[in-house]
Amino acid sequence: MYDVIIIGGGPAGLSAAVYAARACLNALLLEKHPMGGGQILNTAEVDNYLGLPGADGFELGQRFTEHAAKLGIKPVAEEVIRISCGGAVKKVITAKQEYEAKAIIYAAGAGHKKLGIPGEEAFAGKGVSYCATCDGAFFRGKTTAVIGGGDVALEDALFLANVCEKVYLVHRRDTFRGARTLVERVKATENIELTLDTAPEEIAGEDRVQKLLCVHKKTGEKKNLAVDGVFIAVGMAPYTRLIDGQVKLDENGYVAAGEDCKTSVDGVFAAGDVRTKKVRQIVTAVSDGAVAVAGIQG
Ligand code: NAP
Repeated sequence: MYDVIIIGGGPAGLSAAVYAARACLNALLLEKHPMGGGQILNTAEVDNYLGLPGADGFELGQRFTEHAAKLGIKPVAEEVIRISCGGAVKKVITAKQEYEAKAIIYAAGAGHKKLGIPGEEAFAGKGVSYCATCDGAFFRGKTTAVIGGGDVALEDALFLANVCEKVYLVHRRDTFRGARTLVERVKATENIELTLDTAPEEIAGEDRVQKLLCVHKKTGEKKNLAVDGVFIAVGMAPYTRLIDGQVKLDENGYVAAGEDCKTSVDGVFAAGDVRTKKVRQIVTAVSDGAVAVAGIQG
């Protein structure tokens, strides 16, 4: 039996692994993607992690994984399919086997929210993408639209502006949720056209995306943007499927746990983006990993 099973190999889970190793806990880290590292693997530039200005997200993710591995906790690439965490012995079941532990640190993270408009699903991988840094290169010299007004949408628009001939940034309001510095950079970029107060209604085309149909929210005017690709960046939704019904979730669907990372169930901790919190950043995820391990030690 393990002292702790950590579920998720992003910054929160890997930080928990480092702290667990240093506390001499017998720990297992399960991460479904062989690459590990979590969302930052798809982040072109991380400019706000202390001491590493302009860090490459992919490299940073790899360094986090290597750090945990160097201390003896190498992520095991198995997808968790079920958890039973009510009793003193927690069970974690993957497609390969069943593991037992005294505690669980649930650091499964969050995934891309969908818009839910016609064409989004049909054109996924055929012009619709949720990751500019992964797929942007396919749109070299083409026209794309980014949907959203948060940090990710702004960063994606800037990234794509270097690759594409033209980028529409389509946002449903006229003010942005994302950082002011990013907004200023977007505004100063000639080939980004701000398309504000505008909601996307449909993604259309034949074999691949050809247009994005939108409506102006104030005037009701319909717009038809000729685009080769649509990058959707409208936020994240937490991966709670495995523990939904076993621990309390908040009204937005995140695992209800305070700054001590303790959930409503003894011995189950939530760390990183999956947890209720105001600031979802690498630095807060990394902090959660440390705090959760401290909670296990009592
Ligand atoms: P976010 O901050 O939640 O922004 C989501 C954006 O999508 C908002 O502008 C929202 O509009 C819009 N939106 C949501 N649902 C929509 C819909 N159905 N139709 C049209 N637009 C919709 O999400 P995010 O940009 O993915 O960022 C997630 C978290 O990661 C944030 O906390 C962010 O600060 C953090 N992050 C930080 C960095 C960094 O610091 N370098 C980089 C990336 C991400 P409204 O504004 O109108 O609600």
